[in-house]
Amino acid sequence: MTKRALITGLTGQDGSYLAELLLDKGYHVTGMVRRSSTVNFERIAHIQDDIEIVPGDLLDEMSLRHVLAAARPDEVYNLAAQSFVQTSWQQAVLTGETTALGVTRLLNAVRDAGDDVRFYQASSSEMFGKVVEVPQTERTPFYPRSPYGVAKLYGHWITVNYRESYGMHASSGILFNHESPRRGLEFVTRKISNHVARIKLGLINELRLGDLDPQRDWGFAGDYVEAMWLMLQRDTPSDFVVATGETHSVQEFCELAFKHVGLDWQDHVVQDQRFMRPAEVDLLIGDPSRAADELGWTPRTGFAQLVGMMVEGDLELVARQQRV
Ligand code: GDP
Repeated sequence: MTKRALITGLTGQDGSYLAELLLDKGYHVTGMVRRSSTVNFERIAHIQDDIEIVPGDLLDEMSLRHVLAAARPDEVYNLAAQSFVQTSWQQAVLTGETTALGVTRLLNAVRDAGDDVRFYQASSSEMFGKVVEVPQTERTPFYPRSPYGVAKLYGHWITVNYRESYGMHASSGILFNHESPRRGLEFVTRKISNHVARIKLGLINELRLGDLDPQRDWGFAGDYVEAMWLMLQRDTPSDFVVATGETHSVQEFCELAFKHVGLDWQDHVVQDQRFMRPAEVDLLIGDPSRAADELGWTPRTGFAQLVGMMVEGDLELVARQQRV
Protein backbone atom coordinates (compact mmCIF):
# COMPACT_ATOMS: atom_id res chain seq x y z
CA MET A 1 0.00 0.00 0.00
CA THR A 2 1.33 3.42 -0.93
CA LYS A 3 1.74 5.62 2.10
CA ARG A 4 0.09 9.03 1.94
CA ALA A 5 1.42 12.25 3.43
CA LEU A 6 -0.02 15.73 3.79
CA ILE A 7 2.36 18.68 4.11
CA THR A 8 1.22 22.14 5.14
CA GLY A 9 3.70 24.81 4.16
CA LEU A 10 4.61 22.85 1.01
CA THR A 11 6.00 25.86 -0.84
CA GLY A 12 8.40 26.80 1.96
CA GLN A 13 12.00 25.70 2.36
CA ASP A 14 11.28 22.69 4.56
CA GLY A 15 8.12 21.71 2.67
CA SER A 16 10.07 21.42 -0.56
CA TYR A 17 12.84 19.25 0.94
CA LEU A 18 10.35 17.06 2.81
CA ALA A 19 8.27 16.56 -0.34
CA GLU A 20 11.40 15.43 -2.21
CA LEU A 21 12.28 12.99 0.57
CA LEU A 22 8.78 11.49 0.75
CA LEU A 23 8.48 11.18 -3.04
CA ASP A 24 11.82 9.33 -3.03
CA LYS A 25 10.39 6.96 -0.44
CA GLY A 26 7.41 6.24 -2.68
CA TYR A 27 4.79 8.30 -0.82
CA HIS A 28 1.77 9.91 -2.38
CA VAL A 29 2.27 13.55 -1.36
CA THR A 30 -0.45 16.16 -0.98
CA GLY A 31 0.56 19.72 -0.25
CA MET A 32 -1.68 22.32 1.29
CA VAL A 33 -1.19 25.75 -0.21
CA ARG A 34 -2.70 29.02 0.97
CA ARG A 35 -4.47 30.93 -1.77
CA SER A 36 -2.92 34.26 -2.55
CA SER A 37 -2.56 36.38 -5.64
CA THR A 38 1.14 35.57 -5.82
CA VAL A 39 1.66 31.93 -4.81
CA ASN A 40 5.33 31.12 -5.15
CA PHE A 41 5.95 27.60 -6.51
CA GLU A 42 9.65 28.25 -7.19
CA ARG A 43 10.94 25.79 -4.61
CA ILE A 44 8.74 22.91 -5.79
CA ALA A 45 8.65 23.64 -9.54
CA HIS A 46 10.82 20.57 -10.25
CA ILE A 47 8.42 18.19 -8.45
CA GLN A 48 5.12 20.01 -8.86
CA ASP A 49 3.73 17.44 -11.31
CA ASP A 50 4.28 14.64 -8.78
CA ILE A 51 2.39 16.34 -5.96
CA GLU A 52 -1.30 16.85 -5.42
CA ILE A 53 -1.88 20.46 -4.42
CA VAL A 54 -4.98 21.44 -2.44
CA PRO A 55 -5.99 24.87 -1.19
CA GLY A 56 -6.38 25.40 2.54
CA ASP A 57 -5.57 27.83 5.30
CA LEU A 58 -4.61 27.35 8.96
CA LEU A 59 -6.93 30.27 9.75
CA ASP A 60 -9.95 28.33 8.49
CA GLU A 61 -10.71 25.05 10.27
CA MET A 62 -13.36 23.97 7.78
CA SER A 63 -10.84 24.25 4.95
CA LEU A 64 -8.52 21.96 6.91
CA ARG A 65 -11.26 19.36 7.24
CA HIS A 66 -11.73 19.46 3.46
CA VAL A 67 -7.99 19.09 2.94
CA LEU A 68 -7.87 16.07 5.24
CA ALA A 69 -10.81 14.47 3.44
CA ALA A 70 -9.13 14.98 0.06
CA ALA A 71 -5.65 13.89 1.13
CA ARG A 72 -6.62 10.87 3.32
CA PRO A 73 -3.11 10.96 4.82
CA ASP A 74 -1.31 8.45 7.02
CA GLU A 75 1.05 11.22 8.09
CA VAL A 76 0.50 14.97 8.47
CA TYR A 77 3.45 17.37 8.65
CA ASN A 78 2.53 20.83 9.89
CA LEU A 79 5.22 23.12 8.51
CA ALA A 80 3.02 26.13 7.72
CA ALA A 81 3.55 29.24 9.84
CA GLN A 82 4.27 32.92 9.84
CA SER A 83 7.91 32.04 10.38
CA PHE A 84 9.92 35.25 10.25
CA VAL A 85 10.80 36.43 13.75
CA GLN A 86 11.18 40.13 12.94
CA THR A 87 7.74 40.35 11.28
CA SER A 88 6.16 38.78 14.36
CA TRP A 89 6.48 42.05 16.29
CA GLN A 90 4.59 43.95 13.60
CA GLN A 91 1.99 41.19 13.13
CA ALA A 92 1.82 39.64 16.56
CA VAL A 93 -1.88 38.69 16.42
CA LEU A 94 -1.70 37.22 12.91
CA THR A 95 1.41 35.29 13.95
CA GLY A 96 -0.58 33.88 16.88
CA GLU A 97 -3.58 33.01 14.71
CA THR A 98 -1.47 31.03 12.25
CA THR A 99 1.53 29.77 14.18
CA ALA A 100 -0.31 29.06 17.46
CA LEU A 101 -4.08 28.58 17.00
CA GLY A 102 -3.56 27.16 13.50
CA VAL A 103 -2.00 24.09 15.15
CA THR A 104 -5.13 23.50 17.25
CA ARG A 105 -7.36 23.83 14.21
CA LEU A 106 -5.26 21.30 12.33
CA LEU A 107 -5.08 18.92 15.32
CA ASN A 108 -8.88 19.03 15.62
CA ALA A 109 -9.22 18.12 11.96
CA VAL A 110 -6.58 15.36 12.22
CA ARG A 111 -8.14 13.88 15.37
CA ASP A 112 -11.54 13.67 13.66
CA ALA A 113 -10.03 12.22 10.47
CA GLY A 114 -9.19 8.88 12.10
CA ASP A 115 -7.29 7.14 14.90
CA ASP A 116 -4.25 6.14 12.95
CA VAL A 117 -3.18 9.44 11.39
CA ARG A 118 0.26 10.51 12.62
CA PHE A 119 1.05 14.18 13.19
CA TYR A 120 4.29 16.16 13.12
CA GLN A 121 4.50 19.68 14.54
CA ALA A 122 7.35 21.96 13.51
CA SER A 123 8.48 23.37 16.83
CA SER A 124 11.41 25.74 17.03
CA SER A 125 14.52 26.56 19.01
CA GLU A 126 13.10 30.12 19.24
CA MET A 127 11.03 28.66 22.11
CA PHE A 128 14.27 28.60 24.17
CA GLY A 129 14.85 32.30 23.43
CA LYS A 130 16.59 33.79 26.44
CA VAL A 131 18.20 30.47 27.16
CA VAL A 132 18.19 29.18 30.71
CA GLU A 133 20.81 26.50 30.04
CA VAL A 134 23.42 25.68 27.41
CA PRO A 135 23.14 23.48 25.40
CA GLN A 136 19.37 23.14 25.14
CA THR A 137 17.76 19.70 25.41
CA GLU A 138 14.20 18.33 25.39
CA ARG A 139 14.09 19.06 29.14
CA THR A 140 15.33 22.68 29.02
CA PRO A 141 12.67 25.17 30.22
CA PHE A 142 11.40 27.53 27.54
CA TYR A 143 11.70 31.34 27.54
CA PRO A 144 10.56 32.72 24.18
CA ARG A 145 11.71 36.22 23.20
CA SER A 146 9.44 37.15 20.31
CA PRO A 147 5.75 36.87 19.41
CA TYR A 148 6.88 34.14 17.00
CA GLY A 149 8.59 32.19 19.80
CA VAL A 150 5.53 32.59 22.03
CA ALA A 151 3.24 31.34 19.26
CA LYS A 152 5.48 28.35 18.53
CA LEU A 153 5.46 27.49 22.23
CA TYR A 154 1.68 27.32 22.19
CA GLY A 155 1.83 25.08 19.10
CA HIS A 156 4.30 22.83 20.89
CA TRP A 157 2.25 22.43 24.05
CA ILE A 158 -1.06 21.93 22.27
CA THR A 159 0.60 19.08 20.34
CA VAL A 160 1.79 17.52 23.61
CA ASN A 161 -1.64 18.14 25.12
CA TYR A 162 -3.56 16.48 22.27
CA ARG A 163 -1.19 13.51 22.44
CA GLU A 164 -1.91 13.15 26.15
CA SER A 165 -5.62 14.07 25.99
CA TYR A 166 -6.68 12.02 22.98
CA GLY A 167 -3.87 9.47 22.61
CA MET A 168 -2.90 10.91 19.23
CA HIS A 169 0.35 9.91 17.54
CA ALA A 170 1.55 13.52 17.64
CA SER A 171 5.24 14.43 17.80
CA SER A 172 7.03 17.70 17.87
CA GLY A 173 10.48 18.37 16.45
CA ILE A 174 12.31 21.20 18.18
CA LEU A 175 14.38 22.23 15.19
CA PHE A 176 17.25 24.65 15.54
CA ASN A 177 17.87 27.08 12.65
CA HIS A 178 18.15 25.21 9.39
CA GLU A 179 19.21 26.87 6.19
CA SER A 180 19.79 26.09 2.53
CA PRO A 181 19.98 27.77 -0.86
CA ARG A 182 16.15 27.72 -0.66
CA ARG A 183 16.01 29.76 2.56
CA GLY A 184 13.91 32.94 2.34
CA LEU A 185 15.94 36.05 1.51
CA GLU A 186 14.78 37.75 4.74
CA PHE A 187 16.76 35.34 6.94
CA VAL A 188 20.28 36.43 7.79
CA THR A 189 22.13 33.44 6.25
CA ARG A 190 20.48 33.77 2.87
CA LYS A 191 20.66 37.54 3.00
CA ILE A 192 24.42 37.20 3.46
CA SER A 193 24.95 34.54 0.77
CA ASN A 194 22.83 36.46 -1.74
CA HIS A 195 24.60 39.76 -1.05
CA VAL A 196 28.01 38.09 -1.23
CA ALA A 197 27.11 36.73 -4.67
CA ARG A 198 25.92 40.12 -5.91
CA ILE A 199 28.98 41.87 -4.47
CA LYS A 200 31.27 39.28 -6.09
CA LEU A 201 29.55 39.78 -9.43
CA GLY A 202 30.01 43.54 -9.12
CA LEU A 203 26.30 44.42 -8.86
CA ILE A 204 26.40 45.98 -5.39
CA ASN A 205 29.08 46.87 -2.89
CA GLU A 206 27.44 46.79 0.53
CA LEU A 207 25.69 44.43 2.95
CA ARG A 208 23.67 46.12 5.72
CA LEU A 209 23.08 43.96 8.79
CA GLY A 210 21.81 44.29 12.35
CA ASP A 211 23.50 42.68 15.33
CA LEU A 212 26.52 40.55 14.37
CA ASP A 213 27.00 38.90 17.75
CA PRO A 214 23.98 36.57 18.08
CA GLN A 215 24.94 32.93 17.80
CA ARG A 216 22.92 30.20 16.19
CA ASP A 217 23.14 26.48 15.77
CA TRP A 218 22.80 26.40 11.97
CA GLY A 219 22.21 23.13 10.12
CA PHE A 220 21.18 22.12 6.61
CA ALA A 221 17.40 21.90 6.02
CA GLY A 222 17.83 18.89 3.73
CA ASP A 223 19.26 16.92 6.66
CA TYR A 224 16.58 18.09 9.09
CA VAL A 225 13.52 16.90 7.14
CA GLU A 226 14.79 13.36 7.56
CA ALA A 227 14.47 13.71 11.33
CA MET A 228 10.82 14.77 10.87
CA TRP A 229 10.10 11.60 8.92
CA LEU A 230 11.96 9.38 11.41
CA MET A 231 9.84 10.76 14.27
CA LEU A 232 6.65 9.56 12.61
CA GLN A 233 8.06 6.08 11.96
CA ARG A 234 8.41 5.37 15.68
CA ASP A 235 5.77 3.35 17.53
CA THR A 236 5.60 5.96 20.27
CA PRO A 237 5.20 9.67 19.59
CA SER A 238 7.59 12.02 21.36
CA ASP A 239 9.51 15.30 21.11
CA PHE A 240 13.06 15.67 19.87
CA VAL A 241 15.69 18.39 19.62
CA VAL A 242 17.15 18.47 16.11
CA ALA A 243 20.40 20.45 15.93
CA THR A 244 24.09 20.20 15.05
CA GLY A 245 25.41 20.87 18.56
CA GLU A 246 27.67 23.61 17.17
CA THR A 247 27.17 27.32 17.34
CA HIS A 248 28.46 30.21 15.21
CA SER A 249 27.92 33.97 15.25
CA VAL A 250 26.37 36.04 12.47
CA GLN A 251 29.83 37.55 12.04
CA GLU A 252 31.42 34.12 11.53
CA PHE A 253 28.84 33.35 8.86
CA CYS A 254 29.83 36.63 7.14
CA GLU A 255 33.54 35.93 7.40
CA LEU A 256 33.24 32.48 5.81
CA ALA A 257 30.80 33.58 3.10
CA PHE A 258 33.01 36.46 1.93
CA LYS A 259 36.14 34.31 2.21
CA HIS A 260 34.50 31.71 -0.03
CA VAL A 261 34.67 34.20 -2.92
CA GLY A 262 38.04 35.67 -1.92
CA LEU A 263 36.70 38.87 -0.29
CA ASP A 264 37.06 40.43 3.17
CA TRP A 265 33.73 40.92 5.00
CA GLN A 266 34.99 44.06 6.72
CA ASP A 267 35.25 45.85 3.36
CA HIS A 268 31.50 45.42 2.73
CA VAL A 269 29.43 44.90 5.90
CA VAL A 270 27.73 47.97 7.37
CA GLN A 271 25.68 47.90 10.60
CA ASP A 272 22.18 49.28 10.29
CA GLN A 273 19.70 50.01 13.12
CA ARG A 274 16.78 48.96 10.93
CA PHE A 275 17.76 45.32 11.31
CA MET A 276 18.11 45.38 15.11
CA ARG A 277 15.33 43.68 17.10
CA PRO A 278 13.37 44.79 20.19
CA ALA A 279 14.52 41.64 22.00
CA GLU A 280 17.31 39.34 20.94
CA VAL A 281 18.06 35.64 21.25
CA ASP A 282 21.77 35.53 21.97
CA LEU A 283 22.95 31.95 22.04
CA LEU A 284 21.16 28.95 20.64
CA ILE A 285 22.90 25.61 20.73
CA GLY A 286 21.07 22.32 20.73
CA ASP A 287 22.00 18.95 22.14
CA PRO A 288 20.82 16.42 19.54
CA SER A 289 21.88 13.31 21.50
CA ARG A 290 18.38 12.00 22.02
CA ALA A 291 17.70 12.21 18.28
CA ALA A 292 20.98 10.36 17.67
CA ASP A 293 20.20 7.63 20.22
CA GLU A 294 16.52 7.07 19.53
CA LEU A 295 16.05 8.11 15.89
CA GLY A 296 19.51 7.22 14.63
CA TRP A 297 19.69 10.75 13.18
CA THR A 298 22.83 12.85 12.87
CA PRO A 299 23.43 15.89 10.66
CA ARG A 300 25.50 15.23 7.55
CA THR A 301 26.38 18.78 6.52
CA GLY A 302 28.93 20.87 8.45
CA PHE A 303 28.88 24.65 8.91
CA ALA A 304 31.57 25.53 6.34
CA GLN A 305 29.95 23.19 3.82
CA LEU A 306 26.57 24.85 4.40
CA VAL A 307 27.98 28.37 3.92
CA GLY A 308 29.78 27.27 0.74
CA MET A 309 26.65 25.58 -0.64
CA MET A 310 24.57 28.71 -0.04
CA VAL A 311 27.08 31.09 -1.62
CA GLU A 312 27.49 28.77 -4.64
CA GLY A 313 23.71 28.56 -4.96
CA ASP A 314 23.40 32.34 -5.04
CA LEU A 315 26.32 32.80 -7.43
CA GLU A 316 24.49 30.53 -9.88
CA LEU A 317 21.13 32.19 -9.25
CA VAL A 318 22.39 35.75 -9.61
CA ALA A 319 24.37 34.88 -12.77
CA ARG A 320 21.21 33.28 -14.23
CA GLN A 321 19.13 36.33 -13.34
CA GLN A 322 21.71 38.52 -15.08
CA ARG A 323 21.41 36.52 -18.30
CA VAL A 324 17.63 36.79 -18.64
P1 GDP B 1 15.95 33.60 13.50
O1 GDP B 1 16.90 32.90 14.41
O2 GDP B 1 14.77 32.75 13.12
O3 GDP B 1 15.52 34.93 13.99
O4 GDP B 1 16.76 33.77 12.13
P2 GDP B 1 17.31 35.06 11.35
O5 GDP B 1 18.15 34.52 10.24
O6 GDP B 1 16.19 35.96 10.95
O7 GDP B 1 18.20 35.83 12.41
C1 GDP B 1 19.32 35.23 13.01
C2 GDP B 1 20.09 36.27 13.84
O8 GDP B 1 20.74 37.18 12.95
C3 GDP B 1 19.19 37.12 14.73
O9 GDP B 1 19.79 37.19 16.02
C4 GDP B 1 19.19 38.49 14.07
O10 GDP B 1 19.06 39.58 15.00
C5 GDP B 1 20.58 38.50 13.45
N1 GDP B 1 20.70 39.47 12.35
C6 GDP B 1 21.64 40.44 12.22
N2 GDP B 1 21.43 41.17 11.12
C7 GDP B 1 20.33 40.66 10.50
C8 GDP B 1 19.63 41.01 9.30
O11 GDP B 1 19.99 41.93 8.58
N3 GDP B 1 18.54 40.23 8.98
C9 GDP B 1 18.15 39.16 9.78
N4 GDP B 1 17.10 38.43 9.41
N5 GDP B 1 18.79 38.85 10.92
C10 GDP B 1 19.87 39.58 11.29
